Amino acid sequence: MAHLRFEALNKLTGRQRVHVEATNPKISEFFGENSFGMKQMLGSLAPAVYKKVSESIKNHEKIDADTADAVASAAKSWAMSKGATHFTHWFQPLTGGTAEKHDSFFDAISGIEKFKGSELVQQEPDASSFPSGGIRSTFEARGYTAWDPTSPMFIYGKTLCIPTVFVSYTGETLDTKAPLLKALKAVDTAATKVCQFFDKDISNVVASLGVEQEYFVVDRALYMARPDLVMAGRTVFGHAPARGQQLEDHYFGAIPSRVYDFMKDFEIECWKLGIPLRTRHNEVAPSQFEVAPLFEEVNAANDHNQLLMDVMSRVAERHELKILFHEKPFAGLNGSGKHNNWSLITNTGVNLFAPSSSARDNLLFLTFFVTAIKAVHEQADLLRASIATAGNDFRLGANEAPPAIMSVFIGKQMTAVLDELEKKGNVKIEKGDNMYMKLGIDQIPEIILDATDRNRTSPFAFTGNKFEFRAVGSSDNCATPMTALNLIMAEQLTQFHAAVSKEIEKGTEKRLAIVNVLRKYIKDSKSIRFEGDGYSDEWVRDAEKKGLNNIKTMPRAIDSYLSKKSVELFEKHNVLSHKELEARQEIKLEGYMKKVQIEARVIGDLAVNHIIPTAISYQNKLIQNANGLKGLGIDNKAVVDTIKEISTLTQLIKTSVDKMIDERKRINKMTDTHKRAVAYCDDVKEKYFDKIRDAVDKLELLVDDEDWPLVKYRELLFLR
Ligand code: ADP
Ligand code: MG
Repeated sequence: MAHLRFEALNKLTGRQRVHVEATNPKISEFFGENSFGMKQMLGSLAPAVYKKVSESIKNHEKIDADTADAVASAAKSWAMSKGATHFTHWFQPLTGGTAEKHDSFFDAISGIEKFKGSELVQQEPDASSFPSGGIRSTFEARGYTAWDPTSPMFIYGKTLCIPTVFVSYTGETLDTKAPLLKALKAVDTAATKVCQFFDKDISNVVASLGVEQEYFVVDRALYMARPDLVMAGRTVFGHAPARGQQLEDHYFGAIPSRVYDFMKDFEIECWKLGIPLRTRHNEVAPSQFEVAPLFEEVNAANDHNQLLMDVMSRVAERHELKILFHEKPFAGLNGSGKHNNWSLITNTGVNLFAPSSSARDNLLFLTFFVTAIKAVHEQADLLRASIATAGNDFRLGANEAPPAIMSVFIGKQMTAVLDELEKKGNVKIEKGDNMYMKLGIDQIPEIILDATDRNRTSPFAFTGNKFEFRAVGSSDNCATPMTALNLIMAEQLTQFHAAVSKEIEKGTEKRLAIVNVLRKYIKDSKSIRFEGDGYSDEWVRDAEKKGLNNIKTMPRAIDSYLSKKSVELFEKHNVLSHKELEARQEIKLEGYMKKVQIEARVIGDLAVNHIIPTAISYQNKLIQNANGLKGLGIDNKAVVDTIKEISTLTQLIKTSVDKMIDERKRINKMTDTHKRAVAYCDDVKEKYFDKIRDAVDKLELLVDDEDWPLVKYRELLFLR
C-alpha cells in the first residue's frame, strides 16, 4: 500500500491554485441573491399578504392556505427567474446532516410550471429510510415535512430549497428543527413575561446565535489514501509530527494559498445564499481554520450553519481539498469545536445580556444574566447531554478543549458585581434612596470584558454581551444544544417570574422583589461558576469536590435526557414528549454504536492487513542484515533489538485486534440498547483503540519511511 501513499504525495507537486474572484467586488450587491427571505417577500408579495406572513412568524402561528398560495406563487416566479427547475423540502433528520427530495415545477399534465401553496406547506418524503427510534414501527409508518416560514428559502444548484420540519403522521417529531422551534417559542414566551416587569413595550424576545465553525483542511489525494479518514472522518493511527502545535506559528499566521482560494470561493457562494459570513482565520493546530458569520436568529443561524458545511464540502472539491468537520481528526492536536454564541434580544432592540451605562437598565441585564447562570447550574447535566456525540468524546477534556464538566465563566468584573449584590442584599432601602447605588449595581461598565479577561478554557463563558457555549462539537447540529439551552432558560425565567410575583403579592416593591430573587439565585448557583483554568487536572479534582459532574462518555451523558427532571421539563414546555425523548435516545445510541463499530473495523483492517505485513517485511530485511553482520563478525545487537521490538509490537497488535473482535461478537448479542452502547464504549473503544494505536504509532517510528503505508501526519498537516 506504500505506493498509494507516494502516488498521493506525487499528486501534491502538480496541484494548481484555483484563482477565485467575485464577479462583483461589492458584496452588498449580490448578498442574498439566492435567498428568498423577508426582504424578497416584501418586494414580491402584496402588502396584506406580507403582513400576514410576518405576523405569523412573529407569533409562531400557522400560515393559512391563501397566504401560502401567494407565497408559493411568488417563490416560484422568483426561483424560475433564477433558472431553478425543481423544488425540494429541505430538512434535518436525526441522522445528522440534511436531506432533500426534489420535485419538478413542470407539471406534465397541464404542460406548465406549477407550485401550489399546499406543496410549499407540506410534502411526503419517503420517510422509511430515516431513523425514528421505533416510533414509526409502533405507530405510523409515514411522515411529512412542513414548511418553516421563519427560515428563508434558497436556491441551491437548480433547486428551490424550502426549510421544513419533519414529523410523523401521528405527530411525533423526527428531526432536530421541530423541537428547536418549540424551545425558541418557550423562551420567547417566558422572557417576554419577565421583560414586562421592566418595560411594557416588550412583546417579543428572540434568541440569537453566532456560530464559530472550526475545521481542518487536507489535500484530497492524501485524504483518499487514508481509509480511516474516508471511513471514520478521523485518523485512527499516526504519530505526532516533529513540528506540531508547539511552535504556535499557525494561529493567525498566513493562510496557505490553496486554502485561501477555497475560503474566498465558499464565502462568495455563502454570501449569495444570504449567509452573513464575516471572519476567517487560522486556528491553533496546523491546517485548522475557523469561519464565523454575523449572528442571526437561532433557527436561521442554525440552518445557515448546516448549509455552510454543505457548501464548504462541495466547494472544496473544486480545489482538490477535503474538509474535516470531525471533532478530533488528529490525536495530540487541538480538536475542533463549534462555539455557539448566544443571547436574547427584545423587539425593542435590547440585548438582554448586554450591560449598559444606565443603572435602571442594568437590573434587566442582571436579571437575565443571573437567571442564565442559575439555569446552567440547575440543568448542567442536560447541557452536557446536549453536546454528547461520539466525536466530541475524543475532544472534551483532551488537548485544549473544554472538559466534560459544565461550568460558567463570567470574568472578574461580573464576579465582583455578583459578590457585591449578594453581600449587600440585606441593605435597607428607604424611600428616596438610590437603590442601584446602595446595591452596588449602578456601575456596571458597558464594555465588561476586555481581551485580557477572556477564558478560552470554559465550556460556557460570558463574553461581555453574550454567552459562548464552547463545548459544542464541530460536526454537530446546533439545534440540539440550542434546544436544551433555550429550554432550560425558558424554565428558569418561568420560575423567576413566579418567585418575583409571589414577593410582590406579599407587598415587596417590584424592583426589590427582583433583587431578592436574584440574590437567592446568585447564592444557589455559586458552585457552577469557575474562573480558573478549565484544562487543568486541578479543576477536575476541585470540580468533583464541588459536586459537579464529569460525565466523560456519550452513552452515559445522554442518560440525563431521560431523567425524571428532564422529561418533566421537556413535556412542560411542550418541546418533546416522553415517547419522543425515548425514541431519540434509541437513535443516538444506535448511531453511536455504528460509529464505534466502523472505527473498530477500520482499526482492525488497517492494523492486520496493512501495518503488520509492512512491519514483517521490514523485519525480514533487518533479519537479512543481522545475519550479514553476524557473518562478517560485526556486532548486530542494535538490529536484533529492533527485530525483537517489532515482534513484540506486531504480536500485541494481532492479539488486541483478535480480542477486540471477540468483544464485539459478545456485545452484539446483548439485547438492551443502552447496555450495548456502554459496552461498545468501555469494552471496545476504551479498552482497545488506544492500545492498538500506541503500538502502531511505535512501529511507524521503527519502519523505513519508504515502506510505511499510511500518509503520515507531517504530510497530511503541512499543506502549502
Ligand atoms: P470571538 O469569540 O472570537 O471574540 P466575535 O466577537 O467575533 O468572536 O463573535 C463571535 C460570534 O459571536 C460571531 O458570530 C458574532 O456575530 C457572534 N455574536 C456577537 N454578538 C452576539 C449576540 N448578541 N448574540 C449572538 N451571537 C453574537
Ligand atoms: Mg469566540
